[in-house]
Amino acid sequence: MIFDSIVVGPLEVNCLVLACEETRKGIVIDPGDNVGGIIDLVAKLNIVVVEIVATHGHFDHIGRVKSLQEEWGVPFTIHRADLFMVEGLVEIASFLGIQTDEPPTVDRFIEEGDTLSFGNETLDIVHTPGHAPGNVTFLWPGHAIVGDVIFAGSIGRTDLEGSDPDTLMRSIREKVMALPDDTRLYPGHGPFTTVGQERETNPFLR
Ligand SMILES: [Zn+2]
Repeated sequence: MIFDSIVVGPLEVNCLVLACEETRKGIVIDPGDNVGGIIDLVAKLNIVVVEIVATHGHFDHIGRVKSLQEEWGVPFTIHRADLFMVEGLVEIASFLGIQTDEPPTVDRFIEEGDTLSFGNETLDIVHTPGHAPGNVTFLWPGHAIVGDVIFAGSIGRTDLEGSDPDTLMRSIREKVMALPDDTRLYPGHGPFTTVGQERETNPFLR
């Protein structure tokens, strides 16, 4: 698996790029901002993007999907429960003084049990709501892209529209912390971590 990342936008989202080593086909996850930086990273990796995917619908994760959709002519994929955030993208972001693209077209909805394929690679999809109702986690052996469910030393906010603290804790305990301790976790913001490190040190899991 080719894996790289770039921190984008004022809220410092981890935009992730994954691709198949044999076919060079790949995906971009959470392109919230910095179109130029993402295009440069994809060029440097010498891959062809076949799909743009969001861990969830918050504007800082999907703000530049439309620009990249037009650049590459590829589909955009998200969980249906976050469609209202896609539709309200410009309104929600401008309320905070942040500029985004117009809402992208959603070409495919994903849910628990679906998979995401590019080249010879396949990611499993687990629904992990609570921070956002449509937050999904992408899994491949030893790795989990979790969106804003859990961070190194913290957990996702639950004071937003569609958030629910009990649902978030259930997602964390039943879906994320159920993974082996050496599983690498890639949160939507901040440093990468592991399940074991969070089990030992995350104050919200006590
Ligand atoms: Zn979020």
